Amino acid sequence: PNSKAGDGKPRLLLMGQRRSGKSSISSVVFHKLPPSETLYLETTTRIKKESMHSFMDFQVWDFPGHLDYFDPAFDVDNIFEEIGALIWVIDAQDEYLEAISRLNMTILNLQQSYPNINVEVFVHKVDGLSEDYKGDTFRDIIQRVQDELSDQGYENAPVSFYQTSIYDHSIFEAFSKVIQKLIPQLPTLEALLNSLCSTCHIEKAYLFDIMSKIYIATDTSPTDIGSYEICSDYIDVVIDVSEIYGWDRPTENGDAESQETGNNDAESLITMERKGNNYLYLREINKYLALICLMGDDSPADKKAVIDYNVGVFQAALKQVFPRAEREIAVPDQP
Ligand code: GDP
Repeated sequence: PNSKAGDGKPRLLLMGQRRSGKSSISSVVFHKLPPSETLYLETTTRIKKESMHSFMDFQVWDFPGHLDYFDPAFDVDNIFEEIGALIWVIDAQDEYLEAISRLNMTILNLQQSYPNINVEVFVHKVDGLSEDYKGDTFRDIIQRVQDELSDQGYENAPVSFYQTSIYDHSIFEAFSKVIQKLIPQLPTLEALLNSLCSTCHIEKAYLFDIMSKIYIATDTSPTDIGSYEICSDYIDVVIDVSEIYGWDRPTENGDAESQETGNNDAESLITMERKGNNYLYLREINKYLALICLMGDDSPADKKAVIDYNVGVFQAALKQVFPRAEREIAVPDQP
C-alpha cells in the first residue's frame, strides 16, 4: 500500500534544513562516496530526483527558506502521492529547534492529506557527540515532536526516530529499517530466509540492495551489527571484482585466479569464500538484489552444492515475490 509508484519500487524522500547532511547521506549511501569527502560537497540547493540502479527509488529535497512546499503553486500531490516514507534529517550537532518546528509543521500537514506516509526522523551527525549528550539530544528531540503531535491530537502518527552518522554503519542500518516497512512481502521474505538458514546451517542471511548496501530483509535470528558489516564489506570486494571482470553480463567461464566459482546460469554471480572464522556466500538474485550468507567454520566449502541448490530454490521463490525485477533481468540491456 505504501509503494504507490507504478513500477512498485519503494519511494523515499529526503528532507531537512540546509547543511543537515542530505547530500552527504545520499552520496555515501547511493554513490559510495567516502564520508570524509562529503566535506567538499555542494549543499543541496534544489530538488533532485535521482534515478538509480536500485531496488528503491530515492529523491532528495532541500528545504530552502524561500520555498514553501505546501504552497498551492507547488505540485505537492504529484510528489507525496508517490512516496512511502519521508526521511527528515536533523543535524544533532547544531541548534535544532527551528528544524523541529518545521518538522512538526510538516507532519501535521501530511497527517491531513497523506496519513500513510511514514515519517522517519534521522537525528544525524551523532558521531560528534559524547554518549551522554547523544542520548539526551535524542530523547529531547523525540519528546518535542511527540508533545506537539499529541497536543494536536495526532499521537498515533507514524513517526520513528533513528540516530545516524555517515561515519559508521548506522546510516545503512536506519535505511534498512525504513525500507523494510515499505515492503509488503517482508514476512514472506523472512520466512524464506529462515528456512534457507535452517536447511543449510547458515548463521545469518541478508538480502541486500547491491547498489546501496541497504538490506531489505534478513532472517529473524538476532541481528548484530558485526555480521552486517562483514557482509556489506564483502559486497564491496565482490563488486570491485565484478567491475573488473564484467559482472553484469558474464560471457565466459569464471576467472580461475579468483575465488569465484563461475556462473551456473550465466545470469547470476555466485561466490563463496572463507573470511577469518567464517564462510561467506554471495549470490546475485536479480537485477538489484544479492543474497549474502554468513556461515561458521563448520560449513566447509564442499557443502556448496547443497547451498547452491537451496539458494536456487530460494531464488525461484523470490521470482514469485518480485516478478517485476525478474522481468527486468530477463531482458538485459546490451552494452
Ligand atoms: P545538505 O545541505 O543537507 O545537503 O548538507 P550536506 O550534505 O552538504 O552536509 C553538510 C555538512 O555536514 C558537510 O560538511 C558534511 O561533511 C557534514 N556531515 C554530513 N553528515 C555527517 C555526519 O554524519 N557526521 C558529521 N560529523 N558530519 C556530517
